[in-house]
Amino acid sequence: MATVEKQSDQDSVNGGAPSSTDIPVENPATGEIIAHVPDMGADEIAAMAARARAAQPAWEAMGFEGRGRVLMNMQKWLTDNADRVIRVVMSETGKTYEDAQMADWGYGMSAFGFWPKNAPEYLADESVKTAAKLLAGKKLILRYKPLGLIGVIGPWNYPLANSFGDAVPALAAGNAVILKPSEITPLTSQVLLEGLLECGVPEGVFQIATGRGGAGAALVDVVDMVMFTGSTATGKKVMARAAETLTPVSLELGGKDPMIVMADADLDRAASHAVYYSMFNGGQTCISVERVYVEAPVYDEFLAKVMDNMKDLRNDVSTGPGASDVGSMTFPPQVDIVERHVEDAKAKGAKVLIGGKRGHEGKGGYWYEPTVLVDVDHTMECMTEETFGPTLPIMKVADTEEAIRMANDSPYGLGASVFSKDVVRGEAVARRVDAGAVCVNDALMNYMALELPMGGAKASGLGSRHGAGGIRKYCQQQAILVSKYHMKHEVHMYPYKPRTTKALQKVFGLLNGRRKSV
Ligand code: NDP
Repeated sequence: MATVEKQSDQDSVNGGAPSSTDIPVENPATGEIIAHVPDMGADEIAAMAARARAAQPAWEAMGFEGRGRVLMNMQKWLTDNADRVIRVVMSETGKTYEDAQMADWGYGMSAFGFWPKNAPEYLADESVKTAAKLLAGKKLILRYKPLGLIGVIGPWNYPLANSFGDAVPALAAGNAVILKPSEITPLTSQVLLEGLLECGVPEGVFQIATGRGGAGAALVDVVDMVMFTGSTATGKKVMARAAETLTPVSLELGGKDPMIVMADADLDRAASHAVYYSMFNGGQTCISVERVYVEAPVYDEFLAKVMDNMKDLRNDVSTGPGASDVGSMTFPPQVDIVERHVEDAKAKGAKVLIGGKRGHEGKGGYWYEPTVLVDVDHTMECMTEETFGPTLPIMKVADTEEAIRMANDSPYGLGASVFSKDVVRGEAVARRVDAGAVCVNDALMNYMALELPMGGAKASGLGSRHGAGGIRKYCQQQAILVSKYHMKHEVHMYPYKPRTTKALQKVFGLLNGRRKSV
């Protein structure tokens, strides 16, 4: 499918000259065009859906064990192909070796183990008891039946973790999946498709629809459920489109995650977390630390520790393990957004302590320097809009109450973190932050617990990934009632007779209406 033009670390999935309508794929760290992929139209995507629907019943019939074996084979495949996979991720995102290793490859390894292992329990038939007296003796079952065909629409920041993190549970549940990766980063998914086929996923069960936004829109029309990760603006479009066919959606959207540093925090830990989790993956993580609120008494000391962490950060092309700390930006327009936020903050009185401009001038690629901003407030875009880049704006607040107020002053509510040596107080503060996930004395790490739901409050999304809900959403909840012991003729049925109706009313009253009013 992908046509690699120049020699890079990644292998070509398929050869052939690119056509004029193909989408060029760039290495954003260098600006080099490394491949082309087809821009698929609605007809091609409809044909894919037909293939998927033909293949899905046999996949479902393999059961949890059969599917699990195939999916777990991918863990071994990913181990055997670790360096290759990591370098393909790097080549299309510009991230460092370590960022690709930990968050893409590492997360993928966990997902390919977790879902096959836990799907049987999460999706086991549930035997249900009822208070409805008329149903005494009947067997009631709640069953999770795969929906059929799931469309996963993925973003460019984590081409393995995001897209496959959602595709694997959908597959483990017995669905076929069509993945539409971002046009910016379609290569990782091609390599994983190769792995999945090698590991025994039947043809048609997992397919990739490459293309621009239009391909994503066309996919929405032909699937039974859409899992979307990306911007809030596009998420709304996906939901509106899905409404036309009453297709359910799960949306993981943007964030503006706050960190609260309380006066009694371990400042070394808080500072290293603020720096690492704002710069990790070039700050292009939906749950990055996007803004920090520090209580006044420890503000200066915290800032000094942050600067100590920042001063030696290497922001360069990663050639392999340990070569660079912060990689390039992945999506060219994102550099403009970061620049706009920093310039807006400066114009309104903020100070840049380090960084503050585009990086790698004249060297190619898309770069913005790791940046720390102070004297910031909520009139500035860097504190209210998703920056999605290597910036760390830090605001001094009077006390914890002001920190909580500021943290909640946002249309988003994806993640948050709170730092305090008093974990009871820290947890109490965490519970007051309007976010889908809050870490105390940590940041982002909740994402690694695949047992914990991960989803956004407010404009950060709808539904969640991970945990039981992260796989049940790919299923129809089917209620089954089995009547084994029953009367030949049910008394409530035709013909209606005054005596039976009155008797039934009495019985209902006796069974249900005996509680005294309060
Ligand atoms: P988008 O939301 O625009 O795109 C996400 C995915 O949706 C891509 O595969 C995209 O395809 C596809 N898409 C675009 N338009 C449509 C449509 N009408 N119907 C269906 N699918 C569509 O995000 P971007 O990747 O462009 O990033 C923009 C912003 O999103 C960033 O600035 C950042 O703030 C946020 N973001 C959030 C992420 C998160 O993890 N929550 C991840 C990435 C970005 P294509 O790329 O081919 O256009």
